[in-house]
Amino acid sequence: MTKDEQISQDKINERIAAARETLGKDLVILAHYYQNINIVRAADFVGDSLQLAQNASRQADAKYIVFCAVSFMAEMARILCQPHQRVFHPELAAKCPLAEMAVINDVEKAWTFLKGTGMRIIPVVYVNSRADLKAFCGKHDGFVCTSANAAKAMNFVLSQGAIPLFFPDENLGRNTAHTMGITDDEMFLWEPYTDIAEKDASFIAGKKVILWRGFCYVHVAFKPSDMADVKKTHGSDIAIIVHPECISEVVQRSDYVGSTSFIKSTVEAAAPGSKWAIGTEINFVNRLKDDHPDKLIVPLKEWGCREMAKVTSLKFLQVLENLVQDKPQPEVTVHPDDAKYAKIALERMLAIT
Ligand code: SF4
Repeated sequence: MTKDEQISQDKINERIAAARETLGKDLVILAHYYQNINIVRAADFVGDSLQLAQNASRQADAKYIVFCAVSFMAEMARILCQPHQRVFHPELAAKCPLAEMAVINDVEKAWTFLKGTGMRIIPVVYVNSRADLKAFCGKHDGFVCTSANAAKAMNFVLSQGAIPLFFPDENLGRNTAHTMGITDDEMFLWEPYTDIAEKDASFIAGKKVILWRGFCYVHVAFKPSDMADVKKTHGSDIAIIVHPECISEVVQRSDYVGSTSFIKSTVEAAAPGSKWAIGTEINFVNRLKDDHPDKLIVPLKEWGCREMAKVTSLKFLQVLENLVQDKPQPEVTVHPDDAKYAKIALERMLAIT
């Protein structure tokens, strides 16, 4: 298929279905909730990061795993699946900008500095991160977490009398700590772009949580003014439900807060006629809306993830047809040393979930 070839969405869907049928049980397709509807319809399993990680670790029979999401999630499948399995991603350049906000050199510098203070620190890395950071956590008794289990991971660290170094998403860390009664004054925000020599260890003394300055540009777009607007338009009885990557001013004003799977199950279980404004990625909100015409479902604001959108149906089809024709194509790879230690940190997460 050439770049210039014009092909209708119906034709793409037909060819995806045909390729799936040919590949049969050799193939498993995993897709994130934020993927477009045509990919979601073709997937064997659709979920959020935690559900996809759990699912990837259970696919022992499939020869090929095609993972439709941003690239760190495909890396996660590579880490958790069996060595003989092959993992493919339709667009390796689809990188989560949040995941790129912490790089190993900066994290190691922070770690050296923080350990030098004599505090007991355990690293907790959000799943939206590169494999080498997950490996860093594996090597240092730390965890991976998702938005669905961040509280469990943070709680575990605190119960050990240690301080979590939570990276790279400041908002998820801050919102999670708030649910445990930890105040902003008890958190220290590590600024990875500030010269380390300017930091003063005395600022960190007495803090319960150390956060990293990183954010998801999709979720920080939701503002308190959007909440006011949606209530003005749809009435003050509309329930607002948001993802914990949103800023804390939004989270604190919302009726419900939780992971994508939590948002889905909450809205699905709600009474017919109920009204919902959802603060998360637009593809997912639109699908919920289509699946539940008995409820009023609106986005808190129309805001999509450009990186997730880089995984198109056409690129997805190309991967499947290359598999059918046994054509060489790039596979998802992770350095063996990173894979070994990242797996330890991921398995610690799955064990506490
Ligand atoms: S929605 Fe945010 S966290 Fe998720 S992939 Fe896009 S930029 Fe990354």
